Amino acid sequence: MAERTPQDAFKETPLDETTLDPSTPAEWAAMRSLAHRMVDLSFDHMESRREQSVWQQLPGTVRSVLKDEELPRRGEGAVAACDSFLQNVLPYGVGNTHPRFWGWVMGGGTPVGIVAELLAATMNPNVGGFDDSATMVELQVIRWLAELMGMPVHSSGLLMSGGTMANLIGLVVGRYARAGYDVRAEGLQAGPPLRVYCTSEAHSWLKKSMEMMGMGRSSLRIIGVDARFMMNLDELRQAIADDRAAGCRPICVVATAGTVNTGATDDLVAIADICQAEQMWFHVDGAFGALAYWSEKLRPLVRGIERADSVAFDLHKWGYMPYDIGCVLIRDAELHKAAFATGASYLTAMERGPAAGGLYFADRNIELSRGFRALKAWMSLKAYGADAITAQIEKNVEQSAYLAYLVGASHKLQLAAEVPLNIVCLRYQGADDDQNKEILMRLQERGIAIPSGTIINGRFAIRVAHSNHRSRREDFDLLVDALESIGAEVMAGH
Ligand SMILES: *Cc1c(COP(=O)(O)O)cnc(C)c1O
Repeated sequence: MAERTPQDAFKETPLDETTLDPSTPAEWAAMRSLAHRMVDLSFDHMESRREQSVWQQLPGTVRSVLKDEELPRRGEGAVAACDSFLQNVLPYGVGNTHPRFWGWVMGGGTPVGIVAELLAATMNPNVGGFDDSATMVELQVIRWLAELMGMPVHSSGLLMSGGTMANLIGLVVGRYARAGYDVRAEGLQAGPPLRVYCTSEAHSWLKKSMEMMGMGRSSLRIIGVDARFMMNLDELRQAIADDRAAGCRPICVVATAGTVNTGATDDLVAIADICQAEQMWFHVDGAFGALAYWSEKLRPLVRGIERADSVAFDLHKWGYMPYDIGCVLIRDAELHKAAFATGASYLTAMERGPAAGGLYFADRNIELSRGFRALKAWMSLKAYGADAITAQIEKNVEQSAYLAYLVGASHKLQLAAEVPLNIVCLRYQGADDDQNKEILMRLQERGIAIPSGTIINGRFAIRVAHSNHRSRREDFDLLVDALESIGAEVMAGH
């Protein structure tokens, strides 16, 4: 008898060639009709969002379905999974698709965004940057965004998960460019202590990034602000001079276009001049505020972005696109690549085929595999046009001014800060921090509206951050009425 060969063993193993796809035309038809039903329900949800409450507390039973269920070893099927989503997940979001959501800074998405996300998953490309359509789409989106931001058309850049990551990339390139030695090869120990400058109003991404980049928070110089929460420039000049005298190397100023607390913008033109004179990197965090640049009317408020070495901004906030999508633009494309490219053998560029040209985006950031975020930006810009998105941004600024006017005219409420852009911070007159917090929580719990809270000049304030294309004037009338009546309730101790 002949000996059994490995090939015989393969032949004897029963073939199981099932996949995760439906396996018969009938199964495909069922899957397709389930998908149609989900599309219909998604659009029903969005079309009727105004009639629903902004936010509702997760009931205990739902919470445990979502948190405590055991790992499904055997699937319950796509229909059951979808039903569970409709029942347990969809109704209990934070509320940012609702016309009266103005918490933190969030966008509410769009119908075109829903379609784009479906189509991106259909194609499912890995946008590390091949010679393929998805890469071309992202490169084009970056060029469009550079044009909208007043940056050179040949700027480099890429889409990231959000402002935090986009800002981090800008700072990493800035450090590489201005450390004065090869910081990639040598690490921080090889040079003098590096210094980065920002204001007390800068967003927390910067502290996290300084920690992660090994420079530590002590390398971050926090510059004071004036009464309008803008960087104090004399203090900046002095800090740079002091640091140089102490043997440190000032490498970067991180200016903000639209601070998260009040929407203030640093004097970007003056800071650009200082950076130029000091040979420092000029980075602008414009997470939401940079989008004001798209508007001719609002552009003077954020003038100077066009001089940035790098600028980071979100499209999932004031660009109204679905989470997650942020962008960083880098003026010097060569530097951008030099700050990240590795030349790894398994990523080598070919003369022809899908790897022709190398992996563009892998050479521009820390991530390798990336999703097709660019599609929702590309489709939003193509479907709505940049002008329509800009018109919504202008509308939001007008509505914010309207709210500021209502608050100013109210005998019960008062503004907690100036309103330069789209953020309105306010308090109930005579209420202490706890009472203002209580007013905010009741407003949220009743599902009327969702502003958030912050601390302004050491005191709690209710903060309305407006990047919502669905809000109407009447929504702000309703907000003010609700704040006045809940405030009266709280002040009376009810
Ligand atoms: C929101 C925000 C960030 C962080 O952006 P994410 O998209 O949340 O990561 C950074 N800076 C400012 C000014 C912001 O408003």
